[in-house]
Amino acid sequence: MAETRQHVLVINCGSSSLKFSLFAGTARSALLSGLAENLGQTDSRLILKDHGGKTIVALDGGGHGAALRRLMAELQDRHLLDAIGAVGHRIVHGGERFLDATRLDMDLLTEVEALSYLAPLHNPANVLGVRVAMEVLGWVPHVAVFDTSFHTTIPRAAHSYAIPRAYRDAGVRRYGFHGTSHGFVAREAVELLGLDAEDHGLVIAHLGNGSSATAVLNGKSVDTSMGLTPLEGLVMGTRSGDIDPGALFHLSRRNGLSIDDLDSLLNRESGLLGLSGLSNDCRTLESAAAEGHDGANLAMDVMVHRLARYIGGLATSLRRLDAVVFTGGIGENSPLVRERTIDRLGVLGIVCDQAANAAMFGGRTGLVSVQNAGPAALVIATNEEWAIANEARRHMTGSQPTPPA
Ligand code: AMP
Repeated sequence: MAETRQHVLVINCGSSSLKFSLFAGTARSALLSGLAENLGQTDSRLILKDHGGKTIVALDGGGHGAALRRLMAELQDRHLLDAIGAVGHRIVHGGERFLDATRLDMDLLTEVEALSYLAPLHNPANVLGVRVAMEVLGWVPHVAVFDTSFHTTIPRAAHSYAIPRAYRDAGVRRYGFHGTSHGFVAREAVELLGLDAEDHGLVIAHLGNGSSATAVLNGKSVDTSMGLTPLEGLVMGTRSGDIDPGALFHLSRRNGLSIDDLDSLLNRESGLLGLSGLSNDCRTLESAAAEGHDGANLAMDVMVHRLARYIGGLATSLRRLDAVVFTGGIGENSPLVRERTIDRLGVLGIVCDQAANAAMFGGRTGLVSVQNAGPAALVIATNEEWAIANEARRHMTGSQPTPPA
């Protein structure tokens, strides 16, 4: 029985939604995927997608527990439950404690929960997802895959904030996020470009609702744009990215904003949304900018400026820049953002191939730069879920107890 359990369920649990993917063996595309949304609200529902199409199941106000129990019932109906050999969980913050993907038990889960002070918006929901999944699928290994793990190789000079030691010793440092995506995309780029695994330099730009850029030297992260939390760095959908901390003192003193007000301002009301006054969605802004909307134009300009500046800065942590790689919803689908960014990178010797760039969207992978002596620019579709499934698969054992009848 045990050798038939080769499927991996991947769970990414947020505060009000839960995404899942089921991978069969080592196949790269999910057999079944979907999400549970509006959890805890009257219209909560579970959406399942497979090659047969989409199924929507009302959860009638149910929360995370109801969603996962219903998912298990759906998997049972499809004769897929017994095939699951491991569950991979996306956990945003592993702090300095978790350097690698880790098979969880209750004690380790408590340690993950204790890191919630570093990621109050994410880790509590991630941990809740693990607890509920362990309840309903207790007979297989549950493996935590941390967004921060890939960045544990960043040297002290790059991860230290210039603040007194007492605070640094208490864990206030740059950790970096999107690590599963950066690591996956870096490995794909090395293969695609035929680079030497022990001698290469890449900058990966993961651009989505949340965005970060990472310098990868010989397969290892050596600097990244996000910091203690996923707020630092690039302009994002609703997150400001970099801002002078002095501006916060100013806003507090001058406008009376509290810590919670500032948290909400920078995490939820800023970024593309704050700049444009219109939307956090890049597609909407591209259309509005084309029609002359001033806020949309400013949002696009600031996003591209910050991104180009970061890519240039990150390249200084490498010995040689072989390629800049674009990924994430915007990186994979917006020829405009890529073209404008690459144009700014002319100083590094990168030249945009207009035709190739215009044709690169919708999950395609390939070069978007002119082949010359300089670094390449390319697009690689990220597949974080599959990368998480691979990590979880490494913890699958051949002798798991059988599920209850
Ligand atoms: P993600 O968080 O990776 O799902 O990325 C979401 C972002 O990708 C949103 O800002 C979308 O507007 C953006 N996006 C998706 N498709 C396109 C597209 N065709 N052109 C521009 N931006 C896009």
